[in-house]
Amino acid sequence: MKLFNEENNWYKGNLHTHTYLSDGLLSPKDVVNVYKDEGYDLIAITDHRKASESREYQDFLVLSGIELDVNDFVTRRAFHIVGIGFDGNIEYQEGLSAQDLIDMVILDNGLAILAHPSWSLLTHEDALTLKGYHGIEIFNTISETESNRGSSIDYVDTVASKGLIKLIFAVDDTHNFSDDLFGGYIMVNSPSLNKNDILLNIKKGNFYATQSPLINQIIVERDEIFVETSPVVKISFMSDDFYNNKRVVKSKSNFLTSASYKCSERDNWVRIECMDDEGKKAWSQYIIISEKN
Ligand SMILES: [Zn+2]
Ligand SMILES: [Zn+2]
Repeated sequence: MKLFNEENNWYKGNLHTHTYLSDGLLSPKDVVNVYKDEGYDLIAITDHRKASESREYQDFLVLSGIELDVNDFVTRRAFHIVGIGFDGNIEYQEGLSAQDLIDMVILDNGLAILAHPSWSLLTHEDALTLKGYHGIEIFNTISETESNRGSSIDYVDTVASKGLIKLIFAVDDTHNFSDDLFGGYIMVNSPSLNKNDILLNIKKGNFYATQSPLINQIIVERDEIFVETSPVVKISFMSDDFYNNKRVVKSKSNFLTSASYKCSERDNWVRIECMDDEGKKAWSQYIIISEKN
C-alpha cells in the first residue's frame, strides 16, 4: 500500500509562527510575505494567547491559530499547546489547566499540538496523561537556535513506545525572523490547498516533517516497508524494539534514494527518519505494523 497519493500535490507549511500581535517581530501581512517568498504554501499564525483567523488566498493559505500556555516554574514544566484550524475565536482565560486548553481547541474543531516538549522540560508522563490532542512537535527551530533544545526525537519515540502514537510536526516557531526561520516544516500530500483538504490530510497523517530532505513515497507491504527519498546519506527505520541492529541503512560512497526494512517480530510501529549530507533530517509519521508474520 502506498501511503502517499501520487495524484495529489505537495504543500509546504509552517504551523507555528508569531507576529507583533504577541512577541514576534513582524506584522501578520509581512509574515505571510516572508513565507510566501520562500516558497511555502501555508502557515498558521499562532500568537501567544491570541487567536488569529483563517484566510484563503489564491495561492497561499493561512490557518487560524493560537498558542496557549501554562508555565509552571515550581515543577519546572511548561505546557504550550498550539491550536490550529479551529472554527471560531478561542479566548484564552487565566487559571485553566493544560487539559482545559487542549479541550478548548478540540471543542472548536481545531487540531491541538503539544509544542516543543524538550524545551518545555515535560516528562514522558505529562504527554501520556494529557488526552485528546493530535500531535507533538518533533523539532522546533527557535527552541534549537535560542535554547539548544529543539529536538524532541527521543521524547516522541519514548512516549510512542508506551502506546501514545501522535502525529509529528516540525515547525519554526518564528519570532525573530533571523536564524529561527525555515528550519523545520511539514509537507502535506493533498488534492488542493483548500483549507478543508489541508486540515483533513493533516488529521489523517498524510504529511511528513522535515528540515530539507524529501520523503517522496512510503510503501507498506505486510511486514516490509519501502521508502523513496531525495538523495540522503542515512535512512533509519526507528521502532519500539530496543534490540535492533538492522534499522540503519547508510552508504559511505553513494547517496541513497531508497531503502527497505523487514519489520522484526517485536516492532509495533516503525518511523522513518532520513538524513542528508548536511545533517538535515526528515521524519515520517508513525506507521503501525498491523499484519505480522
Ligand atoms: Zn511555546
Ligand atoms: Zn511559539
